[in-house]
Amino acid sequence: MFEDFRDFYNQMIVDHSLKPRNFRLLEGANHSAQGHNPICGDNIVLYLNLEGDLIKDISFTGSGCALSTASASMLTEFAKGKTKAEVEKMFSRMRELITTGIVNGDFGKLSVFSAVHKRPERVKCAILPWHAVMAALKGDAKPVSTENEQT
Ligand code: ZN
Repeated sequence: MFEDFRDFYNQMIVDHSLKPRNFRLLEGANHSAQGHNPICGDNIVLYLNLEGDLIKDISFTGSGCALSTASASMLTEFAKGKTKAEVEKMFSRMRELITTGIVNGDFGKLSVFSAVHKRPERVKCAILPWHAVMAALKGDAKPVSTENEQT
């Protein structure tokens, strides 16, 4: 499993899974949403401090596999300081990247997730934090489950 893990995951994913960024409760959060992937057992809660359309701060807590943790960590780095519209646009681009592996345009660091399409059973792990941030942006405080979403 460990060999498999090393072969499959980019060093950046390993680094973010071991040292997740913005992994904390967020004081002053005014939006949050939970993401749950029952297939893997990932449970992630995203917190946003949204001021108008601007994401002033973002964090996450919970427990998940290496891939969902790294995805949440890198999502928070991306989303901080971005507008709602920028994150919504990146959600649809990430969904395409993760499911097809086609790097269409500039993804910055997030392009490392293009490898995930080779493992369809792991796609839900990678996309889970993105579903959660979309739910949080919509002000939907209900838990979101990948089981109810089209990847
Ligand atoms: Zn997972």
